[in-house]
Amino acid sequence: MADPYFVEGMPTDPSKDHFVKAKALGGFAKACAIRSTEIVRTAQQLHGTSPSVTAALGRFMTGSLLISENMKNDTDTQTTIIKSDGPIRGMTCVCDSSFHCRAYPVNSSIEGDTEPHVKAAVGMGTLSVIRDIGMREPYGGQVELKTGGIGEDFTYYLMASEQTPTIMALGVLMEEGKVKHAGGLMVQLMPGYGEEEISYLEKRANGFPDVTYFLDEGFSPAQLIDLFMGDPEMEYIEASETSFLCPCSKDKMAAGLMTLSRKDLEELAGDSKGIDTECRFCNGKYHFTPEEIRAML
Ligand SMILES: [Zn+2]
Repeated sequence: MADPYFVEGMPTDPSKDHFVKAKALGGFAKACAIRSTEIVRTAQQLHGTSPSVTAALGRFMTGSLLISENMKNDTDTQTTIIKSDGPIRGMTCVCDSSFHCRAYPVNSSIEGDTEPHVKAAVGMGTLSVIRDIGMREPYGGQVELKTGGIGEDFTYYLMASEQTPTIMALGVLMEEGKVKHAGGLMVQLMPGYGEEEISYLEKRANGFPDVTYFLDEGFSPAQLIDLFMGDPEMEYIEASETSFLCPCSKDKMAAGLMTLSRKDLEELAGDSKGIDTECRFCNGKYHFTPEEIRAML
């Protein structure tokens, strides 16, 4: 018998990070789940994050990927930014339309940080979402953070700014400073929904255990959605691999330098050692010789 939890687009090895989407409740609900363990591990390695920053950035990337699922064109991107007064100070994440993301925290490491405390690390501030989907201008919005716990902040953004009632659960499970599991679940009501769908989802969400509990028990994203929705008529729509990927290159860095003023470039070219630039998302380093900078002038 065919595996009822196989969804077209899933990686051959289902223990790898991936995203799954389904429709349920007669089409009035869309449910998405993601396993993002490797993504969060990669971010932790690249940025050397302390436990609270790992957990906060991990939840932020996972939530950003979940809300990026409606991008359609290859060139679409979504940028999410938190600016906050907690010790992390803020985070930025960029997602493309193929479930790749890249992200960095403003502060990677918090002093004396041994246990993950997300809300304390984030504090209060704002969440901005910028969707660039090939229209003349990117669109998006900004809200105040609700709790700094990230899941509630995304939920609030989606309701306030995009009028989409959403349930979101995000989790990063750490063990001895290492990322054991990371993932998330998002259920959204679709146009035409009524009181019946609202109260059904409220009941399902009530007391539903942490996402990482299920991942730890060996449940896949597809099983997680099924378990949450409890709808025998639910239909999986698609799946996709997901990963941390930074598309930076020396050429792109050069294009960035070329936006500097002539005076600034002349100054940089004056340094006989050349200059070193670094990508904030992946810490990729690119060296430019004085000749290379002069060529830009
Ligand atoms: Zn990079």
